[in-house]
Parts: sequence; structure tokens; C-alpha cells
Amino acid sequence: MTYVITGRCCADASCVPVCPVDCIHPTPGEPQFATTEQLYIDPQACIECSACVEACPVDAIGADDQLPSESQRFREINEAYYATELRPQTALPPRRTGRLDLGGLKVAIVGSGPAGAYAAKAILEHRHAEIDVYERNFVPHGLIRYGVAPDHQDTKKIADAFSFHDTRLHLGIEVGKHVTHDELLSFHHAVIYATGAATARRLNIPGTELPGSHSARDFVAWYNGEPAYAGLEFDLRTQRAVVIGNGNVALDIARILATNPDELARTDIADSALTALRASEIEEVVVLGRRELDQAAYSTSAFLGVASRADIDVVMDPDALARLERTNRSCVGAEANALSSVRLDIARKAAERQPCATNRRITFRYLVTPQEILGDDHVIGVRVVRSEPITNAEGKIRARPTEVHETIATGLVLASLGSSGSAIPGLPFNEKTGLIPNVAGRVIDPVTHAKVAGAYVSGWIKRGATGVIGTNRACAAETVDQLLADYRAGQLSEPQRDTSALNGFLRTRQPDHISNAGWSRIDSAERVAGAQQGRPRVKFTAVADLIGAAGKRSI
Ligand code: FAD
Repeated sequence: MTYVITGRCCADASCVPVCPVDCIHPTPGEPQFATTEQLYIDPQACIECSACVEACPVDAIGADDQLPSESQRFREINEAYYATELRPQTALPPRRTGRLDLGGLKVAIVGSGPAGAYAAKAILEHRHAEIDVYERNFVPHGLIRYGVAPDHQDTKKIADAFSFHDTRLHLGIEVGKHVTHDELLSFHHAVIYATGAATARRLNIPGTELPGSHSARDFVAWYNGEPAYAGLEFDLRTQRAVVIGNGNVALDIARILATNPDELARTDIADSALTALRASEIEEVVVLGRRELDQAAYSTSAFLGVASRADIDVVMDPDALARLERTNRSCVGAEANALSSVRLDIARKAAERQPCATNRRITFRYLVTPQEILGDDHVIGVRVVRSEPITNAEGKIRARPTEVHETIATGLVLASLGSSGSAIPGLPFNEKTGLIPNVAGRVIDPVTHAKVAGAYVSGWIKRGATGVIGTNRACAAETVDQLLADYRAGQLSEPQRDTSALNGFLRTRQPDHISNAGWSRIDSAERVAGAQQGRPRVKFTAVADLIGAAGKRSI
């Protein structure tokens, strides 16, 4: 018997330090950590002590002889990681240890998603620091609440590890609107911006603005009940939906559209979305990728999460499979990537399965680029051009458009092309990258490269919209290391105003802002409502209801 990490892994890495034989990789100190899809247990080294199982915040680790059928493949996926050259030979030295006395350091964290939460945790490893967390939503947790798909409740459980108990929460406060960067600096020594990357990348082809064409960001926020999006309407009276994009979010959307609503009814999905999905006429979701199956950005575990579902039929592009079989055979040996062959095997097995008449279907297409969304007053189709794979001068495989066009009939197009960050007034911003310019988390002036005193970044606004929840842990730790170094070097100005005046000050800007106690009341009201329906929670999806549940005013 050995333990196995499954697809629920969020790379939070709480399992790494508790492993007595160092058999979980990549660790936050290893270069591969920044881009890994998940962590893996070395089956040869595991001593079956189960310490990692206890430490995992999302129940992602199981004994290999007790894995549920849908997780069986992860035994092989863990093994495959150690069979490749991906396994780091030399670990980087661990980051500094030791508990510092921070002598009353006051830090503002803007954004309460994973990057903000991990930054707070990294500071609270030390003594005598005060943290205020400012969040524009009336609830904390960023994309854990409003991004992670409702059928991934185990992943959402990580929010329990981000309680913010030892910080002061200011929910409903948007920095740049209710309070400025300079005002924050008048109360705090430093501000860490962990504001994420919420602006959807646009499709920018003719027809993008037609009714029936939406961004994945809108759709995800809608089914997750984010107040500004909960009232949107998606016309699901079409037999086929088209999802443009090949990342994990594209797969989330395809899966939600293809899942039996009775399954979703057991989750915290927004009630309005559930009602719409119950009335959905969609039978097929076509997922369009510009490149090849083995170049798709989605993780092997996310792909397996769709391809292994007995209640969803999967149709694979036979040409893509044949091409990948050829490529894989031609690089057997030193260059063979075991994870890529696992992905191919998953695809092949899914393609071989007999379809079931009652199932909805997800069809994967590769090497196709959308050119136009067709329709007069509503989407009726997508025109795509097929591409062919070519190897460029640097030896990289690229997609080159051919003359072959095709129209895919559909009434719903969802573009999942990634997202970028937004500017914060008073701070530099790079419009091209969608990031706040920084070096290892210290905000810098993009022209002079001088440090912007007291300003730091963490998470997606620092490094772009990549990586899983746990990736933000090492990212936040790096930022906090820089901040503490600057503080101890006397480079942060003493705040002019006392934080005891903060609540009164914020009330003048946003009378409805919610604190820790208010959030606790919202959280328990949602959980109680959920328990009555056999669900983890029933979310409030209107700002007025959140404010009412927080006890600020009656609803
Ligand atoms: P966010 O989580 O976006 O947090 C940023 C916070 O800042 C938000 O709460 C926002 O409201 C707040 N904010 C922004 N501007 C301001 C302002 N001016 N003032 C105050 N507050 C502000 N990872 C996984 O491991 N597993 C998954 O299943 C998974 N699913 C995902 C699904 C989707 C649709 C997406 C988009 C991502 C998913 N991820 C998943 C990735 C994961 O969510 C990210 O790695 C993580 O949320 C990034 O953290 P962040 O704190 O930088 O950003």
C-alpha cells in the first residue's frame, strides 16, 4: 500500500513539511512548484505513515488500495511523475525560519482570495503584527467562492483554512473607490495588493457582441452566485454549446453544462443557475482548442475529471488522437513525457467508451481557430478555420491555419481565454501584461525601477492568471519576505494615523462595510440554509441580503 495524491490537490503543500521521508514533490522550494498541476507522492519512498492525509486541507490524498474508481488513475499519474526527468535532482534551500518579533508592524492586505489569505498567514507566523484585510466583495475568499466550480466542493473546503480570525476584515471596501492607496498608507506601514486578475480576455472576432456570446468569467460568476452576475441570463435553449479555450476553466464550464442538474443540486451552485440548467436543452458541448491535445493548458487531472465521468459521453477528435500517438511513439526514450502518455491513454479510453443515450456529450476539437460568430440578432454558429501542426525554427510545434473552414451550429458561445488584472489608482500598472510591475513582490516604477515605498503585490496581480490555489502560497511567502526585510531595514514609514480610528473612517466611506462578526453571521446563515437542503451552503446572491445577514440592516 502507498498513498496517492488525487486530482483535488490544490498544491497548498501543507503535506510537504509533515512527510518524514520527503517523498512529496515538487516542494515550494523546487523550481517546478510554480507551474505544477498538482503534487505527487513517490510510491517507492512512501512509508505509509498517513501524516500527509491528516495535513491535506482538501482531502486529496488516499491509500492506493482504497481509491474510489474515478481516482484509480492517480496511482499511475503519481508514479509517472517520478518516472520522468521532471523530478528535481537538487532541492532549493528552504526559506528563512524563525519567529520574528515584528514590534507592531501594521499591514493592509487588499483582496481576500488565496494570495491575500496566504500573505496574512505568512505574516502571522511571526509575533506582534496587525493585519487589516480590505475586500471589495461583501464576503471573503475571492475565486474560491466565485471561481472554483460548485461540483468541486472539496477544493472549496480550503476556505476553512483561511478563516481571517487573526486579522480585521473590512468587506465591501474597494480600494481605489472607497479608500485610496495613500489613505491606507496613513494607517499602515505597508500595503499588499492581492487583487487577482478578474478582467476577462476578449475574443475580438466579428460577432463577439451578439446575444448568446459571453465570456467564461460571466458564466462562472453567474453559476457561483456572485451578486453582480447572479442576475445575468444565459439562453440555454440550444442543443449545442461551444466553449472556446483549452484551460481548466473551459473544462469546468463544459462539465457544468453537461452535468445532470440533480448532481449540481447537492452543491452550493446559485439557485437561479440551477433553475436555468434544469431547463437547459443542451445535449452537446464542443470544446475548441487552437492547438493539440498534448499542448492543451488544462491539467491532466482536470481532463481525467471529465473523461472518466460515467454520466458524460466524451467524443475525441480521432485525427488529434492519431497525431498524438505518432508524436508519442517518436519520442520514446529520454524525452518521453510519462504524463503526456497518461493523457493520451485517458483520451483513448474515453474515445473507446460506448455512448449512453441519456448522457450529455462533450466533444473535444483540436487545431481549430474561431474566425467569426455568426448570427443577426442572436448567435447561430461559429465559423472556424482548421490548422495544421508545423515545427518552427526553434523546434516548437505551432498551429498554422489552412484553407479549410467549417461552421459549427450553436446558440451559445462561451469564450474562456484567460484574464488579466486591473489598475489600482496611485500605483503603476502594465496595460500589456495586466500586472502591477514588481520584483519578487516589491512594486517598482516601470521606468526608473525604483521601489514604490510600502507597496507590495501577491498572487495573480503579481505573476498573472496561472497556477492553482496553493501556487499562491510560495508567491505570498516571497512577497512577505521582501516586506519584512524592508521593515527591518527601516525602509517603511511609520503610519500617521491610529488603526483604532479605522472603523470610523471606513464607515464614512462605506456605511455598509462588514467586519469579521458580520461575515461569521453570513457564513453560518448560509451553512444552516444549506444543511436544511443537504447542501454545503445556500449562498446569498444579492448584496442587500448579504448586508442583512451580516446584521447591518433588516432584509
Ligand atoms: P482572487 O482569488 O481573484 O482574489 C482577489 C480578491 O481581490 C478578490 O476577492 C477581489 O474581489 C479582491 N479585489 C480585487 N480588487 C480589489 C480592490 N480594488 N479592493 C478590494 N478588493 C479587491 N485553483 C485550484 O487550485 N482549484 C480549482 O478548482 C480552481 N478553479 C478555478 C476556477 C476558475 C474559474 C478560476 C478563474 C480559477 C480557478 N483556480 C483554481 C485558480 C485559483 O482560483 C487562483 O489561483 C487564485 O484564486 C488566485 O488568487 P488571488 O488571491 O490572486 O486572486
